[in-house]
Amino acid sequence: MITMAERQQEVDRQKVTDAKTSVETTIQKPPVDTNPRVSTQQALIALGALFTFGDDLKRVLAQTLKIPHPKDEEAVQKLDHSRLGCTRPVDVFDERSAADHSSGILSYNESIIAKRNLASEDLLTRFLNKLTLNQTFSKSPVLIGQEISSDWLTKSYLGPVVYKRYTETPPVITIEPVKFFEAEQEVGGKSLFSGIYYHDTNHIAISKGLNTASDADKYRLIVHEELHYAAFLGSKLQIHFISSDGELVSSAMPSLLHEGLTELHAQELTRGHRGMVPDKVDYPPETVCAAYLQSIVGADVLREAYFSGDFTEVSRIFDEKFGKGSFQQFLVVFSEDSTKGSVFLEKLFNKAGVDTADIEKNPIVVGARKHMPG
Ligand SMILES: [Zn+2]
Repeated sequence: MITMAERQQEVDRQKVTDAKTSVETTIQKPPVDTNPRVSTQQALIALGALFTFGDDLKRVLAQTLKIPHPKDEEAVQKLDHSRLGCTRPVDVFDERSAADHSSGILSYNESIIAKRNLASEDLLTRFLNKLTLNQTFSKSPVLIGQEISSDWLTKSYLGPVVYKRYTETPPVITIEPVKFFEAEQEVGGKSLFSGIYYHDTNHIAISKGLNTASDADKYRLIVHEELHYAAFLGSKLQIHFISSDGELVSSAMPSLLHEGLTELHAQELTRGHRGMVPDKVDYPPETVCAAYLQSIVGADVLREAYFSGDFTEVSRIFDEKFGKGSFQQFLVVFSEDSTKGSVFLEKLFNKAGVDTADIEKNPIVVGARKHMPG
């Protein structure tokens, strides 16, 4: 979530915490989506700042929110989704106000950069060097986004609740110069990326630098960002589920798990429409984890969980296959290190005698593996 009010607060904080500038901005800057993936170290810092998972997930989650809950089916169905998930954007933009939002972000970032005695002009020179000569998209990201919204993210795909909200406040895409993303990188400590979805809004910013990507990757990246928004509308980026013990476990969605699920679905949609094959798979270990989860619980169950934040069915099927508490155990391992999470899943599958040959043949997993060590 990024609002100008928060940014102003952050600016005010900066005045008294100059000595800690780099740490402060890394930790306090609200989470934004990044493509390609942030480094593991940055991700761990961000994860640590958002929620610290200890050895026992349940104990830590209890500090955020744990509501005693009866075990009976009826009560489970009465889960208060309006409180746990399902939300609407706080700031709803149209094309013009989204552009203002972008320039506000850029000004903010440039003010921070200036404070770091890093001359904007020097940055600009670096940005210009990265620009390609032709910055005109053959098909505008805005039009691609509209095509995806109407043809790919259908009512049956999103489910009625998310679909209604999504169509009431559709995403607004602005196209920003590479320097916009460079500034976000500089201030947020992120790797250079080509798209951002701003939580709590309907605003997606797409980089002009994406112009050099293949059509398949343009669609993949744009649908990735639109999925972030759709999942935000349904889940408020929270995860909750009734554990094997009948407890309601609820927490902020581990951001990298959310990225893996987002990328898996973005890849499937892109490959499923127009027969396009993206050149790359972002968030490789996280996407592999998502594919492993999907192979056990099924595409429909995983997608519904992704859009609603309710992982009860995922947890139930997973625990049934691998033993009580396995899903929570996976979340603990994954939240500490997503690569370890993928190794954990492989071992779990092997131990239970689940053949992984087919999963490993999935082109999305094959693509992700290319970018993973070992
Ligand atoms: Zn993302």
